[in-house]
Amino acid sequence: MTELATAKLSVKALRRSYDNTHAVSDIDFQINQGEFVVLLGPSGCGKSTTLKMVAGLETPCSGSVELDGRDITHLPPGKRQLAMVFQSYALFPHLSVAENILFGLKARRTPADIQQSRLADVVALVNLSDHLHKKPSQLSGGQCQRVALARAIVAEAPLCLMDEPLSNLDAKLRNDMRAELRAIQRRLGMTLLYVTHDQVEAMSMADQIILMNQGEIVQSGSPQALYNNPASTFVAQFIGSPPMNLMNADNLILGVRPEHIHRDINGYPASVVTCDYHGADTIIEVELHDFDQQRIKLRHPGHLTLVPGSAFPVSWEKQYEHYFSCSDGQRINAPQTHSTHQTTTSEMTHVQAL
Ligand code: ADP
Ligand code: MG
Repeated sequence: MTELATAKLSVKALRRSYDNTHAVSDIDFQINQGEFVVLLGPSGCGKSTTLKMVAGLETPCSGSVELDGRDITHLPPGKRQLAMVFQSYALFPHLSVAENILFGLKARRTPADIQQSRLADVVALVNLSDHLHKKPSQLSGGQCQRVALARAIVAEAPLCLMDEPLSNLDAKLRNDMRAELRAIQRRLGMTLLYVTHDQVEAMSMADQIILMNQGEIVQSGSPQALYNNPASTFVAQFIGSPPMNLMNADNLILGVRPEHIHRDINGYPASVVTCDYHGADTIIEVELHDFDQQRIKLRHPGHLTLVPGSAFPVSWEKQYEHYFSCSDGQRINAPQTHSTHQTTTSEMTHVQAL
């Protein structure tokens, strides 16, 4: 497959209102060539509106969209050199898989030999070589999604936009497709702006996450940065499952992640409320006697059966405490520098020394 053209997207101060209410405002971000960027947030927070303004399907009230330094804010969609994949695959039912994939190239009168060579490459990539002559009605949901994906890839557009492309698929297929999509994006060096409300999807695929709430960006950064250093209680609870525990403590909000809390005979007195076995681990909810009976969840590796009401004292290390303001929920303590999920350099040295 030929090299993709370079693409650097720059979105500046985008704003869009409907009937005097802000759908989105102050949207600023950049995407570098080859990056997989996820716009994440709850339903109605403005993800699709933002994506549509990048695509040219919505007109911003103010702000700009630049692709490689070129202002494309007011260009029609067809002139932006973008490929798009939507939640509804938007396939033509009367056309075959091959015709669906090549539809855009035919419309642009790409020479037939180039069409055929790109088709062969892309169907091998998305595993559709045996289905070229079928109609969409003869395909499974996952195969339809791959046709939509192939149609976007074959365009070799500098920037590809996807709006919840996997949300119609069942859980197992969605998992497989995530891994496939990420692999294809890496192999081709695609620059991808991907919308989802699913934090697991964002965490597992993104180079960079842009987290939105109520029409604004609340934090952007790598998945690790958002997980380890949430900028607010909203971020702390949106990313991670179960979410970070938040406790009222001395006019502050104290946050601790479930995996950082453990049983400790000398810890805070607490008793078991619920105990849910999840296979790899058990999620235990306890009531803290010294903290107004506030409830928190902790993650215990492996299987554990506990009787509700039984004593389960807990503690956590100071380094895993996050503090937020009671008034606006913003983070108060300095960003944590330790990494909770990666092997530290000293651990690696130790492993090598063994
Ligand atoms: P998301 O994709 O994050 O679920 P949207 O971008 O679709 O959210 O919507 C953001 C907000 O803008 C919502 O409050 C939605 O109701 C509103 N909105 C979106 N499109 C329109 C429209 N065409 N007319 C009026 N309001 C709209
Ligand atoms: Mg949407």
